[in-house]
Amino acid sequence: MSTEFLDPRDIKSLTLPELQQALGELGCPKFRAGQVFRWLSRGVTDFSQMSDLSKDLRESLSQRYQIRGAQAARKQVSKDGTVKYLFQLYDGEFVESVVMRYHHGTSICISTQVGCKMNCSFCATGKSGFSRDLSASEILSQVQAASLDLGERISHVVLMGMGEPLDNYQNVLRFLELITCPQGMDLSMRHISLSTCGLVDKIYDLADRKLQLTLSISLHAPNDEIRSRTMPVNKRWNVEELLKACRYYSRTTSRRISFEYAMIAGVNDMDWCARELASRLKGILAHVNLIPVNDVTGTGYRKSGTGRIQRFVSILESLGVTATVRRTLGSDIDASCGQLRRNYKGGDQGES
Ligand code: SAH
Repeated sequence: MSTEFLDPRDIKSLTLPELQQALGELGCPKFRAGQVFRWLSRGVTDFSQMSDLSKDLRESLSQRYQIRGAQAARKQVSKDGTVKYLFQLYDGEFVESVVMRYHHGTSICISTQVGCKMNCSFCATGKSGFSRDLSASEILSQVQAASLDLGERISHVVLMGMGEPLDNYQNVLRFLELITCPQGMDLSMRHISLSTCGLVDKIYDLADRKLQLTLSISLHAPNDEIRSRTMPVNKRWNVEELLKACRYYSRTTSRRISFEYAMIAGVNDMDWCARELASRLKGILAHVNLIPVNDVTGTGYRKSGTGRIQRFVSILESLGVTATVRRTLGSDIDASCGQLRRNYKGGDQGES
C-alpha cells in the first residue's frame, strides 16, 4: 500500500509487511513484527504492555512511535442494549461509535472522519462542519476500544458513522486490510459494510478490487430533483451516474447492494416516489432499507408515519424490489449519526 499519507509516528496504521520492514530497519528479525502486530491488534495502548519484547526494544519503539487509540469520553447505554461512545482522539477531536446487538452477533457502527464535507440536509454530522480525516489506526481503535470496554467480541463492522468513507479512501482501504488480516483481528470482509453518499469514481475503484464487503448507497431519493435538494453530492454525480456505477459494482462483484432511504414526510415518501424508485433500480441486485428520518434540530424534517412507510414497502415489493424497514435501536440515547458530538461540543462552547 502507499505509505505517502501516513504519519511516520503512527505505528498502528502499518500493515504487517510494512511493520516487518520498519522493524527490520531497527535490526529486528521478522517474527518480532508479528509479535508487535498482534499486540497492536489487541488494542494495547502502551508499548510497556508488550510483555514478550525486551525492555530495550520497547524503549526504542516508544521513542520512535505512538500508539494512537480512542479514549471513551462518554458512554451511553440504551434500554435495548445499544451502546453509544464518544471517543476522544490523540489531538482532542471527538468521534462517535455505536454498538448494536443483533441475533447474528454484535455490530459496531464507526466513524471515518471528524465531521463531514458532504452536507446532506437531514444529517447532524454535516452541520458541525469538517475537521479532518481519521487515520486507519483511529478507525480501527474504535472497534478495539469498544470491544475491550464491553469484554465482547465484535463480529460485524459498519462504516456508517460520522464522515464519508470514500472521501477518506486511502485510510479506509488500509483499515480494511488491517482489520481483516489473519495475523491480527481477522474479521471476515463479509461482515463489513461500507456506506457512501455516492462518490462514483471511488465506487468503480472499489468494484475493481472485488472485496467481499457489502456496499450501502445512501440514495434517499428516486430522482435528481429531490436528491439535489437534500444531498449536494448529487450535483457532482447525478442519480443516473450513481446507479450506473452501482450496476457495474453488482455485476463485477456479484454482491447485492443495499440502498438506504430515509423516509421524510412530504419530501420523498409519496406513492409515486416508490414507483419511480422501483423502476430506477431495475437490473441491479438491490435491497432497499427504509429508515424513518431521525429528527435533527434545525432541519425542519419530520419522519413519515408507520402507515406511509408500510405502503411504500408494499409498492416496492409489488414491483419486485425487496425492502425492509430498519429497526430503530438506541432512540433513547440519540444513537444516530453526529448527534452526540454535536450536543457535547455545543455544551462545551456554552451554546444552547
Ligand atoms: N457518509 C456515509 C456514511 C455516514 S451517514 C453515507 O452517506 O452513507 C450514515 C447513514 O445515515 C447514511 O445513510 C445517511 O444518509 C444516514 N443519515 C444521516 N442523517 C440521517 C437522519 N437524520 N435520519 C436518518 N438517516 C440519516
